[in-house]
Amino acid sequence: MQTQVSFDPQGDMIIGGESVKGAGGALYALAAATGETLEPAFGCATPALVERACALAGAAFDAYRQLPDARRAAFLEAIAQAILDLGPVLIERAHLETALPVARLEGERMRTVNQLKLFASVVRDGRWHGAVVDTAQPQRAPLPRQDLRMRRVGLGPVAVFGASNFPLAFSVAGGDTASALAAGCPVVVKAHPAHLGTSELVARAIARAAHDTQMPAGVFSLVIGEGTWIGETLVAHPEIQAVGFTGSRQGGLALQRIAQARAEPIPVYAEMSSINPVVLLPHALAARGEQIARDYADSVVMGVGQFCTNPGIVLALAGEALDAFCSTAAQAIATKTAATMLTPNIHAAYCRGVAHLAELDGVTTLARGAEARGPNDAVPVLLRTQGRAFLADAAMHEEVFGPCSLIVACRDIDELQAVLRRMSGQLTATVQLDEADYAQAQTLMPILERKAGRVLFNGFPTGVEVSHAMVHGGPFPATSDTRTTSVGTAAIDRFLRPVCYQAVPDVLLPDPLKHDNPMAIWRLNDGELSRD
Ligand code: NAP
Repeated sequence: MQTQVSFDPQGDMIIGGESVKGAGGALYALAAATGETLEPAFGCATPALVERACALAGAAFDAYRQLPDARRAAFLEAIAQAILDLGPVLIERAHLETALPVARLEGERMRTVNQLKLFASVVRDGRWHGAVVDTAQPQRAPLPRQDLRMRRVGLGPVAVFGASNFPLAFSVAGGDTASALAAGCPVVVKAHPAHLGTSELVARAIARAAHDTQMPAGVFSLVIGEGTWIGETLVAHPEIQAVGFTGSRQGGLALQRIAQARAEPIPVYAEMSSINPVVLLPHALAARGEQIARDYADSVVMGVGQFCTNPGIVLALAGEALDAFCSTAAQAIATKTAATMLTPNIHAAYCRGVAHLAELDGVTTLARGAEARGPNDAVPVLLRTQGRAFLADAAMHEEVFGPCSLIVACRDIDELQAVLRRMSGQLTATVQLDEADYAQAQTLMPILERKAGRVLFNGFPTGVEVSHAMVHGGPFPATSDTRTTSVGTAAIDRFLRPVCYQAVPDVLLPDPLKHDNPMAIWRLNDGELSRD
């Protein structure tokens, strides 16, 4: 059956390429800015429909993963085009559901499209196979060596939980889906309730691309519904072989527990919480404190603070330069308007988090932005404490998701280092420095490398490039698996595993490993990289 791109959400799921109205009750999207219910009603999944999505994904796996690379790349490119073909309706619906500004959503759509195209280029390039050839050494003494060949294959169907804060780039056709599809893994997405219509529109685009490029029916499904049972069922389903998740620590850990308790445990790649420390070194602070303070305030409120890389904490040495910095940052925050958060729950969690942090011993409030006007408006907040207090109270180390940041004044560099060491794992760690600070920065590098997936200088962590070298990951609780990244082309590695072929006749070998390298891909041949 041909799936058309529809110009308005219909309240449907996409199960194995077909539009399906679930019979598990009705669910409505909400307009984030007003709290109004949005049409249409979404038919929720039943257990039988979740079962069907997983079974179809399992049935599609072998056919999909064995397609020529060029076919899979064409599928990813067709998804990118189909998303563009949705036109303004996608942005309008996403804006209504999330209250994110139109310009931001247009940028996010471009990022989503380019991300899909980038993964298409990765698939075409062929290095993702990780082909390695150790040729036979029949004369080797005392024992001959057999012909050994290795390549990577997809893990199997992947369950993806769309993120609330990136309704396009980290949701239905976002980084997790793109990297899983690139790896040859069918995908079942659990729609985030914060953008149901956006999810359906993008799912229709994927279904149209799958149809047009003749993909197996179960290569993609979108399930919608209320309650944790859908996510729990997906993660527990025997056909699902890996999970991609972005959201709360509580949610990520709950899904990880289910994955670990299965008869066959599976990996969960959950991106959860991070407070993204920014260290201000003394010479930079003295020379450029005012400018850094203004840029910092902009970064704190960007996207209503709803970035996983939001700079939640600043560390610097106590003194006049830091006092001046605090004063400029406080003035800048006080001018920032309150803005609508993604959901009532996220807004409520923000208000609770700020109130809790502000009441802790040793924390003072430096500034609050303009008062809220709408129901889910978050008021930006700037707080200050001392290194000693931060070290003594782990409650200060928790993420407050939203436009809130805490400045920690440290007695000396030893205390600043101790604060960094005490922190848990982070997605990013930032250093603001001038040349005269390099020696001090050198002493911080080993700590920063241990704590964060990305270490950056003289910038702010908000804004994540999708490229080959990007790492959007980090030690727990930034992610559940510190060895990986969820942004950038290395994200494909999460959904691949190596297989070794020993003394396999050439005719039975997969193309990437055949003796005459018919795909002309880069391979490690007896330790030497070549395309021979
Ligand atoms: P969430 O509550 O963790 O939900 C994310 C997705 O996972 C939703 O589809 C949700 O489904 C599902 N889910 C959550 N817990 C589950 C469970 N126990 N079993 C099965 N499925 C489960 O995240 P959110 O709604 O996006 O935001 C809530 C909080 O997460 C924020 O306030 C913030 O603290 C944090 N967050 C952090 C980041 C980050 O990048 N650091 C990004 C987004 C959110 P249902 O909603 O349908 O149950």
